[in-house]
Amino acid sequence: MPAIESGSVTNRIGALRRLMDKEDLQAMLVSSLSNVRYLCGFSGSSGTMLVTRKSAWFFTDFRYKEQTKQEVRGCRSRILSRGLFADFPVEYIRGVKRLGVEQDHMNIATFNLLRKRLKGPKLVPARDLVLRLRRTKDKTEVALIRKAQAVTDSVFRWLLDNTRPGVTERELGAEIEYRFKRHGESAFPPIAASGPNSALPHASPSDRRLRRGDAVTFDMGCRRDGYCSDMTRTFFLGKPNDDLRQVYLIVAEAQKRALAGIRPGASCAEVDALARDYIRDEGYGPYFGHGLGHGVGLLVHEQPGLSHKSKDRLAEGDVVTVEPGIYLPGLGGVRIEDMVLVTRNGYENLTKSPKELIEL
Ligand code: ZN
Ligand code: ZN
Repeated sequence: MPAIESGSVTNRIGALRRLMDKEDLQAMLVSSLSNVRYLCGFSGSSGTMLVTRKSAWFFTDFRYKEQTKQEVRGCRSRILSRGLFADFPVEYIRGVKRLGVEQDHMNIATFNLLRKRLKGPKLVPARDLVLRLRRTKDKTEVALIRKAQAVTDSVFRWLLDNTRPGVTERELGAEIEYRFKRHGESAFPPIAASGPNSALPHASPSDRRLRRGDAVTFDMGCRRDGYCSDMTRTFFLGKPNDDLRQVYLIVAEAQKRALAGIRPGASCAEVDALARDYIRDEGYGPYFGHGLGHGVGLLVHEQPGLSHKSKDRLAEGDVVTVEPGIYLPGLGGVRIEDMVLVTRNGYENLTKSPKELIEL
C-alpha cells in the first residue's frame, strides 16, 4: 500500500453505486475490511464505509487517524470516538429507505444497535455487491498478484533445494512462513504434508519426519501489498510407489484438461467437469472431493468458484486457481494448483514453478 491509485478507487465507488441502483439501495454500509480496502485503500484493521448516491464516507477511530490521511482516497473520512456504530452519524442517511448491509460481517449486537439507531431505513442483506466488483482485476491488482506469486515461486525453489529425509513438516512450514514474511506475509497457514499426511487435503504441519518414498505436498501463498497468491505442488522423495506415480500423472493430465477450457464465457461448472470427469474415468472419482478452484485477490478465496455447483461463467480479468487432487487414505495424495488470469482469448498462467513429476 498505497498501491491503489485514487482514480481507480473513485471508479470503484461509482461502480458500486451502479450496482446499488439495480438493487434499489439508496445507501450501503460496507463493513468487510477487504471490501473497505478495495473501495478506499485503507489497510488497517478497523473501519467502515458508508456509500450513498451522492457521498462516500470512511469511518474509523483515533488509532488510525494518521493512517487514514496516508491511505484513504476517493471519499471523506471521519474519526468516531465512541465506536463505529454507537457514534454512527445517522444524519448521513436521512431519507434512505433501503440500506444495504454485509450480513457476513455484522454481528447480532451491531445489527440490533443499528436497527435501534436507524429507525427509518430497512436493512437489506447485500453481501456480494462489492465482491462482484472485486472479481475483475485491474492492471494494478494483476501486477500485485504477480509479485505475490513470484515470491511463492522463489520459496518453492528453496523447498526443492532443502527438502530432504529427516526434516519435519513443522520445520518446513516455519521456513515457508519466514520466507514469506521477508516480502509480506503468509496469505494462509501453509500446508507441508508428507507421506500419509499428504492424503489430507487441509493437513496442518506436524512433527512427522520426512522419509524416502514420501509424497510431499506444499500448499502456500504470499500476501504482498494486500494481494494474495495460492499454489500447490507435490513432489516425491526418491521413488514413489507405483500407485502414487500413476496418481500424479492423472492429476497432471486432469489439470491440463481443465486449463484448456479456461476462457471468457466458459461455464465454471464445465471447467470443473473437464478435470473431474477425467479423474472419475480413471477410477479415482471418490478421491477428488473438493472443488476445482476459486478466485484469488485481496482474499485467498474469492469469487468465482470453480465447482460443479457453480452457476458462474468466467470473464476476462478473473484470477482463479485450478487445483485438482487425488487423496488415497493411508498412502498419500497429490494436488497441483496453478493460478491463472483469464484473458480476452484464454488465460495466462501466473504460476511459474515446475510441475513435471519430480523425484528428489
Ligand atoms: Zn492452495
Ligand atoms: Zn487454492
